[in-house]
Amino acid sequence: MTIMLSVIMIIVSCLVWRCTSQYLDSKDKGHAVRSFVLAGILTLLMTVIYEKNIVLLYNIWAMMICMLYLTIPIIYFISNKNSTNMNNDVPYIVIDSRRDILLAVYVYLIVSAMEPVLRSGLPMWLYIVVCSCLSLLFISVPLLNIIHYKVYGEELSESSMLSIQQTRWQETREYLYAFLGKRGLAGLSLIIVTYISVCMYCGKYMYTQLVDFELNIALIYLICMTLFFIQEFPKGRIMASWISVKKQLQNEKMYKLKHDERYSELKVDTKNSLINKLQGTVIVVIGESASREYMHVYNKNMCFENTPWLESKENDDNFLIYNNVYASYNLTVEVLRQALTESSQYNNKEFSESVSIIDIARKAGYRTYWFSHQGRLGQDNVATTMIAQTANTYKGPLKQKNIGYDKELLELLQTVNPKENNFIVFHLMGSHAYYEARYPKDWTVWKSENTEAYYSNTILYTDEFLQELFQYATDNLNLQSMLYFSDHGENLQYGHHPSIRTVDTLEIPMFIYLSEKYREAYVDRVNLLKQNKTAFYSNDMLYNTIVGLLEVKTSHYSAKEDLGSKEYNFEKNDILTFGGTAHIYEFD
Ligand SMILES: [Zn+2]
Repeated sequence: MTIMLSVIMIIVSCLVWRCTSQYLDSKDKGHAVRSFVLAGILTLLMTVIYEKNIVLLYNIWAMMICMLYLTIPIIYFISNKNSTNMNNDVPYIVIDSRRDILLAVYVYLIVSAMEPVLRSGLPMWLYIVVCSCLSLLFISVPLLNIIHYKVYGEELSESSMLSIQQTRWQETREYLYAFLGKRGLAGLSLIIVTYISVCMYCGKYMYTQLVDFELNIALIYLICMTLFFIQEFPKGRIMASWISVKKQLQNEKMYKLKHDERYSELKVDTKNSLINKLQGTVIVVIGESASREYMHVYNKNMCFENTPWLESKENDDNFLIYNNVYASYNLTVEVLRQALTESSQYNNKEFSESVSIIDIARKAGYRTYWFSHQGRLGQDNVATTMIAQTANTYKGPLKQKNIGYDKELLELLQTVNPKENNFIVFHLMGSHAYYEARYPKDWTVWKSENTEAYYSNTILYTDEFLQELFQYATDNLNLQSMLYFSDHGENLQYGHHPSIRTVDTLEIPMFIYLSEKYREAYVDRVNLLKQNKTAFYSNDMLYNTIVGLLEVKTSHYSAKEDLGSKEYNFEKNDILTFGGTAHIYEFD
């Protein structure tokens, strides 16, 4: 009977793996086949060693726990298929559910192997307590995931884990009370009491069953399986996310912990600085997933004229449009933690110890603002949010659930005092997948239902955003400089993702606007910035270019990474990407 159940379990597992994985290459498939063969052998060994001792009732129970674990990859697959969730970075993501499926098999093996050994060695009461606690522990992970899916329509995501890990016990109790109400809590208590009673009843029955096996061999199998399991458990999707969120929080704590000290020690010399010479506003706009390849201003072969405003500035001396800027990675968080701080691919500075552009601007005397459409809790945004929160004013996503459109951010400009010196950062959703969610339906310019049209609409929408922002800031805020760049590019078929190493995910737009007064005040810098319009550059160096633009003198600055400095002499062959692990010339 046990053998039959085990064979069924292995077959079901393979089927679930097949149905919940997509876009796997032959290497992934080879890995999976090898892992499943190993799992099959371990299962066979288990049935041979314990066969007569496994009680059918318990075997079915172990099987049910295994099935619960199989819901993890299924839920992940379903919620990623259906979701238009903005945390999902790519529309065509590779999904390999191998590790989750194997975890389900290992849970089955360890739950099955554990019971007879405990039965043979422990007094009845202890046997019942240990068995019920361990199985409760095992089912809690997939159960939590199922409940989350029921309530929020998606798997236990990193954003939820972040809130769970940040929440204190007191708040959890209050939350549970508010969420479940009195009836719900009574129901929960009833379930727990029933569970304990069933465990006691079944435990007593199981304890009387036959014990007839070679204890040494059984023990060795159990110990080996446990060691193996401890090694494999953290690799499952849920545990891996849990650990990664924990690490992020530690990193965030480090950045925050040391921030005040770093900020108070930061010394800036503002004698010749922009703020002292010219009152007014400086704006930095962080775009999202905009690729030069699909922007008319850079690629005149594009049939969609999606950058009319920027093109109208091509021959305007106040605008410098850069042609050879590359992303230092094709993931938002990896790029921005360097673009906005001293840390870059060319130095070994840790993010958690780096000064940011907000620190510099604030110290120089600007009132700093951060207006963001991104920054929902989640992996993508922890580092950016950390920096954003150090601004004098930080306004996060306008609507928590349904992210609105970038242009809604412009309303926030009303809150900026035109009489002050302001440093404003905008963080857009830009052209992030899914493209058709980035602009209002009734605004749609290119109506054909294909990716290029959708994407071109997002580029045009951003072009309009920049135009309106520029207009308002010149009319009302005494705009001295405005810099726009995209975090990374995009591949219209695969989106952007570390495993998608195409050049369009690295080629990004960038421009700098400098007011008439700025150009008169800093002739040398403006000439250098102009000369470097075709220079090769990666966006992790932006921090230094912005410090240069502000003309702030500080020891936290490297002229070598400043496009407006005569020390800037990077050639194409020097430009790195993918966190310093590749050169951009490799993508020609
Ligand atoms: Zn991004």
